[in-house]
Amino acid sequence: MQKIEHIGIAVKNLEESNQRFAKLLNTIHYKTEEVQSEGVITSFFRVGDVKIELLQATSESSPIHRFIDSKGEGIHHIAFAVDDVNAELKRLKDAGFDAIHDKPKPGADNKIIAFLHPKSTNGVLTELCAEQL
Ligand code: ZN
Repeated sequence: MQKIEHIGIAVKNLEESNQRFAKLLNTIHYKTEEVQSEGVITSFFRVGDVKIELLQATSESSPIHRFIDSKGEGIHHIAFAVDDVNAELKRLKDAGFDAIHDKPKPGADNKIIAFLHPKSTNGVLTELCAEQL
């Protein structure tokens, strides 16, 4: 693991949340991106070396919709930058962590990503991400 790459926050209304976080962070989001495979629309803010990713569901079957239904808005996941998602996924599975994705997949912000199941990480949904080559 290199560093925390971003923190994902589940929100009900991306437009309103973009305005709120722009005030909070004193900077505007630098991109908005829809990830159809995950049923989300996301926006990104930079805070120093770390990003904040706001996530709004685009359908009722979206994991973000289910998350907000059961837990409400709030921190959804922490993403760690890694050199090689495949290698790190293997290392962590060998160490007993449960992966949600057996194979890395394309994510927002031109990343290749995989998630670990929160039941094996003290309730923290954990994303591994690397720049897509
Ligand atoms: Zn993320």
